[in-house]
Amino acid sequence: QTFYRELPKVELHAHLNGSVSSATVEKLVASKPHLNIHQNMTAIRGGQRRTLDECFQVFKVIHQLVDSEEDVMMVAKDVIQEFAADGVKYLELRSTPREDGKTGLTKRSYVQTILEAINQCKEDGLDIDVRFLVAVDRRNGPEVAMETVKMAEDFMLSSDGAVVGLDLSGDPTVGHGKDLLLALQKAKNAGLKLALHMSEVPSQNEESELLLSLPPDRIGHGTFLHPEVGGADSLVEKVRKNNIPLELCLTSNVKGQTVPSYDKHHFLYWYQLGHPCVICTDDKGVFCTDLSQEYQLAASTFGLSNEAVWTLSQRAIACSFAPQDIKNQLEQKWTKLRPQIL
Ligand code: 5GP
Repeated sequence: QTFYRELPKVELHAHLNGSVSSATVEKLVASKPHLNIHQNMTAIRGGQRRTLDECFQVFKVIHQLVDSEEDVMMVAKDVIQEFAADGVKYLELRSTPREDGKTGLTKRSYVQTILEAINQCKEDGLDIDVRFLVAVDRRNGPEVAMETVKMAEDFMLSSDGAVVGLDLSGDPTVGHGKDLLLALQKAKNAGLKLALHMSEVPSQNEESELLLSLPPDRIGHGTFLHPEVGGADSLVEKVRKNNIPLELCLTSNVKGQTVPSYDKHHFLYWYQLGHPCVICTDDKGVFCTDLSQEYQLAASTFGLSNEAVWTLSQRAIACSFAPQDIKNQLEQKWTKLRPQIL
């Protein structure tokens, strides 16, 4: 529908390699025929569902396809162009630095290449402001987390404002947040904003309690924070007291089966509280969606008017990690576009 596509949007939760479109996968597959990878191994279509574990297998397949600076450059540029074409005006991309001995890719050159792609898109005049969050994969443990934080700090200082924060992601059933607390605290002290995946699966109350003590600047998913699904009042209280925005990804949660159906999505719980909720895609390539579709799904599932959808998209600006002058510019952009769209 044109309203959702024309709606100016802010995307705050997008993993680079989960966002790779089928068109880009096609190019990657063609350049690496020996891998014998097919489209149906990198995307979860239509009515399909996967367990969260199976979703993580999909990322492994994509990582095999994206293993050089050249690939990272193509993937990052394609993803940014696709978000821009979908009406996203401000994008925070996140990705886990990877290395590959065969192609000479290092964790530093990985991040450097993404920053270069962001710059090239800017030079090409795309109407989208892109920032980057360096991701810590919880599976890799505290030492790698600390190394990643140090690298993120360096890039924060040298990237001219492009690197704004740190993400904590990776398989939530592996490892414990308590081992990563020191690294996360260091990042926070250095001025990196924290966007942490939390309570993505049940029974993580203890870990979430610990992570909330930091506190993070945004929460990814937070599916099982509230008491109705086994969370705890104390968690909800902390999130509310600190006014920590939630990044909510409807299709991802339903296809990954952490939420049984769209109408049962925890968006409703938090939205009804008037808590800051930001609609995001998570992995638009893997879950075959885009941000316009996610807004449309939220609207049709929860009966939101166009006015309410507009407000939802505008309120996402304040939840971003952009500097204040950029937030002001985005607010102005929204004000200017409003009469044309509503
Ligand atoms: P990348 O960091 O390689 O650009 O994007 C893929 C990675 O993002 C995955 O390997 C995983 O660590 C993380 N990721 C993507 N989607 C999710 C999700 O829904 N939950 C969690 N916890 N991590 C995710």
